[in-house]
Formats: sequence, C-alpha cells, structure tokens
Amino acid sequence: MNQKVTPATSLNKTISTKTYAEPQSLSVSKVRDLISQSIQPIHAIENLPVQQALGRVLAEDIVSGINVPAHNNSAMDGYAFAGKTLSDVEETNFSVIGKAFAGRAFQGVVAAGECVRIMTGAVMPDGCDTVIPLEVVAKVSDVCIHIAPGSVKPGSNRRMAGEDLAIGKIALRHSKILRPADLGLMASLGIATVPVQRRLRVAFFSTGDELRSVDQPLDAGCIYDSNRYTLHAMLTELDCDLIDMGLVKDDTVTLEASFRKACEGADVVITTGGVSVGDADYIRQTMAQLGDVAFWSVAMRPGRPMAFGKIYSNGKSAYVFGLPGNPVAVMVSFYFFVKQALQQLQGAEHVPPLMLKANSKQVIKKRSGRTEFQRGIAETNAAGELEVSITGSQGSGILRSMSEANCFIILEHDQEQVNAGDKVMLTLFDGLR
Ligand code: AMP
Ligand code: MG
Repeated sequence: MNQKVTPATSLNKTISTKTYAEPQSLSVSKVRDLISQSIQPIHAIENLPVQQALGRVLAEDIVSGINVPAHNNSAMDGYAFAGKTLSDVEETNFSVIGKAFAGRAFQGVVAAGECVRIMTGAVMPDGCDTVIPLEVVAKVSDVCIHIAPGSVKPGSNRRMAGEDLAIGKIALRHSKILRPADLGLMASLGIATVPVQRRLRVAFFSTGDELRSVDQPLDAGCIYDSNRYTLHAMLTELDCDLIDMGLVKDDTVTLEASFRKACEGADVVITTGGVSVGDADYIRQTMAQLGDVAFWSVAMRPGRPMAFGKIYSNGKSAYVFGLPGNPVAVMVSFYFFVKQALQQLQGAEHVPPLMLKANSKQVIKKRSGRTEFQRGIAETNAAGELEVSITGSQGSGILRSMSEANCFIILEHDQEQVNAGDKVMLTLFDGLR
C-alpha cells in the first residue's frame, strides 16, 4: 500500500527541482510555464442538457446545422416592399395588400407599387427587400402609405438568413468555457444536449496545529481557518466537484493518510500552510515521499513558498498544489497559478485575465526582482479615466485587504516604485472568476 509509483515522465522531465533545500527564487512566469508544461489534460466527456452546461468546458466543436435566422426577416415593425421602386425626388405611394407576422408569413408575391404591413421577425414576403419603420412613414391609412424621398435606403431593416450563424460553419469551438450567451446560441441552433468535459474533483485541506474550524472553540493562541472557505468559494466559481477534507494537524502520519485519501479520490489536491521551512512544516517531506513534487520559492508577494507536483497512492495519482498558509497568499497563488492549471486539466482554452491600465492615485512602494499583487480599489474619475488606490496595509495575512479591494494591481518583476500619477496595470476580481 505504501509503494511509490514511478511518476509520469513528462512531469519528471519538466520539474527537476525536487529538493528540500530552498532553491533560487523563480519568477511568476517561469512557475506558470513549469506548471503548464506538466499538466496532461483529462479527457472525459459527458453530455449535458444545455441548461446545465454553464461554466463547463465544451468538448467538441459545435457546427451549425441550420441558418440562424432561417429566413430573411424584418428587423422592425413597419412596411415591406421592393426598394428599387422608391423615388429619390418625390413621395412614393404603396398600396397595403396584407400583413406578415413573426411565425405567420404573408402568402403571395408583392408587386411594384404594393407593400405589406410587417412585424419584427416576420419572414420577408416574396418581392420585398426593404422595410420602412412605422414611425418613418409620412402618411398612413389602412390601404395606402406615402414615403417621403430619402426616408429609407433600399435594403434597409432586413435581417439576412444565416447572418447570425451560417449552416455548416463552426458556431462554438471546443475548449470554450460556456457562458450564458453560448447556451442561448446553442439553443438557437436547436441543440438540446452538449458534450462537455467532466468536472474536476478537487480535494483540499488546511494544515496547521493552530487552526480551528468555525464551529470549534478558539483555544488560546489559535486562529480560525479561513483558507478552506476562500478555497471552497474560488473552486465553486470554477465549477469543480469539491472534497473538503477539513483541518489536518502538523504531523506526518495524519498528513500522509490525508494525502493518500485525497489522492485516491480526486484529480487535484490543494493544501494550505506548511510549505515554508518552519519547524512544524511537515507537509513538504510528506508530499515529497508520495511522488514527484517540486518546492519553489517564487519571486512574488504575497506568496513565495509553493509546492507543485504529482502524488501517487494505491495506483491512483493526483496533481498537488501546496499553497502557503497566509490567507492573501493563498488567494493570489490560486488565481495566478492554480486556476490556470485546473482549466488546462479540463482542456479549456487559456484566456489570460484582462489587464487594464489605470492611474495610480498614490505612491506604491515596490522592489525590483519580484512580482507584486497589491490589492486595489479601481474606479473611474469624473473625466472617465480609470484610477486606482491600494487598500491600506498589504500584509499577506490581511484578508480584509482582499475583501475591500475590487482588483489586483500587478507590479511586474522588474518594476520599481510607483509614483502618484504613474500608470499601473490591474485586473478586476470579476475577471478572475
Ligand atoms: P505556514 O505557511 O503554515 O507557516 O502559515 C503561515 C501563516 O498563515 C501563519 O501565520 C498561519 O497561522 C497562517 N495560516 C495558515 N493556515 C491558515 C488558515 N487555514 N487560515 C488562516 N490562516 C492560516
Ligand atoms: Mg503552519
């Protein structure tokens, strides 16, 4: 039962820093690359009703089996007629010969000098290519309309068959993370079930003798565990199946049992705490015993210590992320390393977070040689420009800084101090979901 399985060669090749010794700091982008090179996507497809596919990764291209819209139709409520019969110089008169409703077409052909009263979405009658909106018609009676010269261009206010989605064309590409518009788009093609990648199973636990759950009394010198709650929420937003394994004490026997259980039941294991070099940080040795795990010192703030690799137990394997203990560091490491890896595992396209440029309202201290993720409050000023300030103290244990902020200000590796009025790059928390 305690046998160690030989790690996958791909992982072995790409992570050669398996060591207890603190290796030299790696840049954020290097760590991201190392993780990305090690991940083998899991291909397991399931078919879901379209309503249940929100947030899931599309497993196959969706090819349009029909034209959407299926017919040329009217974009307005008004009158349909042949545009070439309009006069440029004088009023044009048309006699009204019938009505066309959405879902109930006008039967018959419209000749020169004739028009049809038409509603939005109604099929364009034969002989018509132009719609004049009701409010633009100069004079109207039940039997006749008068159109002033220049009030409508021939061909206007008509939607063409297939202009939204053309038959035979790819409507959605595989690997897309499905959003509300995508579900509607598939429905517009008459697609009832969608092939998606299965959800990832993610097990997570917090380590530290000082931690207590919210339903336990807070003994002297102890703190409540917050990491498990932020992780739970962030993983929920990524639509994972969650295995919350609670609190685990800083002792190697319990840790090993927890890692094995997590590994046997999940695709990914995430832990917090115990990856630095403190005396009670047994997690490193336990993780290392169970597989091929690299311990990195990342040139970032907050963050720095982090473990990543693959562990094995009873013929099962799981990727493992050992995140730091400090609550803000956990969130930053999750958003900028773990999230991308989880999406890659599910075969999702990589969409880097949208970066916005903003004026800093203040001096922000920064040392070159590490990436900093400062918590910011971004807003648009009276001139419509984006500006940002930081949320007070930026300690990696101050979770309030995350709660008050609406964005991360990302100060790149080589950047030095920011002065008031300087441009900085930020990414909104909303975009990190
Ligand atoms: P560690 O990485 O285990 O040395 O933890 C670093 C700091 O984060 C310590 O002050 C811990 O008490 C704190 N910490 C660790 N885990 C948690 C947690 N789950 N919730 C809140 N704080 C934590
Ligand atoms: Mg600890």
